[in-house]
Amino acid sequence: MGRMEELVELLNRYAREYYEQDNPTVSDAEYDALYDELVMLERFGGLVLPDSPTRRVGGRPNEGFRQVKHKERLYSLDKTKTVEGALEWIDKIGAPPLTLEYKYDGLTLNLSYEGGVLVRACTRGDGEVGEEVTEQVKTIANVPQTIPFKGEIDVSGEGIMPLSSLEAYNRDAKVPLKNARNGVAGAIRNLDVSETARRGLAFYAYNVGYHKGIEFAYQHEVHDFLREQGFDVGSFFEVVTDPGEVTRLLDEAAARRPHLDFLIDGMVFKADSFDLREKLGFTEKFPRWALAYKFKAEEISTEVKDVLWQVSRTGKLNPLAVLSPVDIGGATVSRATLSNISEIRRKGIRIGDRVFVRRSGDVIPEITGVAEAVEGAREVEKPTVCPVCGSPVIEKGVFLYCSNSENCAPKIISALEHFCSKDAMDVDGLSEKTIEQFYEEFGLRSPDELYSLKKEDLLSLEGFKEKKAENVVSCIEKSKRTTLARFLTALGVPNVGKKAAKVLEQTFGTLDALMAASVDDVASIEDFGLITASSVVDFFASEENRALIERLLAAGITFIQEERTEGVFSGRTVVITGTLSSYKRSAAQEEIRKRGGAVSDTVSKAVDLVVVGEDAGSKLEKAKKLGIEIIDEARFLELLAQ
Ligand code: NAD
Repeated sequence: MGRMEELVELLNRYAREYYEQDNPTVSDAEYDALYDELVMLERFGGLVLPDSPTRRVGGRPNEGFRQVKHKERLYSLDKTKTVEGALEWIDKIGAPPLTLEYKYDGLTLNLSYEGGVLVRACTRGDGEVGEEVTEQVKTIANVPQTIPFKGEIDVSGEGIMPLSSLEAYNRDAKVPLKNARNGVAGAIRNLDVSETARRGLAFYAYNVGYHKGIEFAYQHEVHDFLREQGFDVGSFFEVVTDPGEVTRLLDEAAARRPHLDFLIDGMVFKADSFDLREKLGFTEKFPRWALAYKFKAEEISTEVKDVLWQVSRTGKLNPLAVLSPVDIGGATVSRATLSNISEIRRKGIRIGDRVFVRRSGDVIPEITGVAEAVEGAREVEKPTVCPVCGSPVIEKGVFLYCSNSENCAPKIISALEHFCSKDAMDVDGLSEKTIEQFYEEFGLRSPDELYSLKKEDLLSLEGFKEKKAENVVSCIEKSKRTTLARFLTALGVPNVGKKAAKVLEQTFGTLDALMAASVDDVASIEDFGLITASSVVDFFASEENRALIERLLAAGITFIQEERTEGVFSGRTVVITGTLSSYKRSAAQEEIRKRGGAVSDTVSKAVDLVVVGEDAGSKLEKAKKLGIEIIDEARFLELLAQ
């Protein structure tokens, strides 16, 4: 089978699932990509197979409904995905005045009024013959049952399921709906009218078809007429006379899209003048006087690779789906939230299934339903122990909690927050939410891990764009130059607050000196009792704490003095290694600080200068490797004398 036959067969299967069974197994974006490939092959090969979807509108009407032949044929729309494509088309038809409105993503409906009364409502079907759904449409609250106009007229528009109705419906539905488009299609093409009524649908009118007893010369007249007759005509309608306005208007509509209570998948341009329409006419499938500009897709299908359980700061276990990475509207999505285990079961999501993932604006990607249940997929298991601390899990309603939350995730998150806080490392630009995201998305557990985050990592987080990511990374970097007092505060030494930390800095000068201090040394400080002194010493005696400090210093944390003095070492971080003959190390470090420098005990990229004394060891080697400036004691003394 050639590629063309393959595409026709596949697209026809997808179209049957979509139009006739209201049960798509691929997203529109995936369908569109295959469709575009077929269009290309047909264009270049000059051959169009008889059953090609490019020659057809929609699907076959369902036999359970009465079949109705439309008085005027209903069409599909030609499409473009780019602003350039839209401008080219406008140019091709001579840049006439155009109307621009939302492209509602629902189900096309054609309503026939006679003598001011709604007598019939039909679906588009295959464009020639539709399904009669009058009773179903009568349940839609904003469809006028009677209109002032007493002639004969067909009104076409889109039946939609508002997102608020979808949410309300899915809240307690046994089988949740996959999305709003499916929600409306399945509701209207449903023989059980009470089910249609339950879905809280709406209708937006955008065209008139067959009509007798009134004439229209422009689309904007149609728009006004429909509104006067009591139809909802949507909140976006512009007559565009200057193509220079197109980019701005499309941007404006795209910006409004995430805030609408219904799905739109693009914008529709129509020639305003009916005379011009007559001249341009139709192809087999669509009018030449209209064009759909499609927005970037918000929904795509992908595989669920795993489900992880993340412990939030309240100790709640939240399921997170790990997805085979996909591009949605220009962003790579590899994770999606799932509310709880009962939601997973209700939606029938299993590991290995292909699911629909939706992302709109900055909203966290969400799995809306199963696209295809894959053989061999396995059920998501409910955890019995907390994945962070191993304590038993307790169930409260549909939610799961760690039974030991006091010592679990919440504690870790607060410690991270404390580390970054204003009086501690003062990592500006890190909100509580961001820290929680780091914890949940990157598994950040220890503060030193903050310093290995890269801009690229941050860009994968919800709500992070280039600028924000850059800002956060630079704030983290900046926090590396800190004072000993801030560092002590950040470490959370028990009984040592901001003030005590300052006193410790003033007394001991360096971290090394403080870490070497005895209980007596600390207790001899004014206002420091034995309890505080012991907790300081115990803190630094702990292997775990020492390891953390080592990792933090290795990450490049260096100490400066709060009130920086200007001098020969201003803006530079200096390490002393080996023994100096003229100064004790702590005294030499003090001299550096006095001259505006910062001192560090470890060599890292953040260090600018290394002073080498007798018997220098690995630090010197490392400094050489990193290409840091190295000076001997004589040069050091010269600098001090300057
Ligand atoms: P379409 O939806 O791309 O465009 C035509 C329709 O747009 C009209 O019938 C009308 O109902 C609607 N519309 C909305 N707002 C309008 C407005 N303001 N003015 C005029 N019309 C407006 O075309 P189509 O042929 O019905 O469907 C094709 C699309 O359906 C594909 O691009 C694909 O996205 C989707 N599809 C998906 C699958 C799948 O498996 N996921 C299968 C088949 C089709």
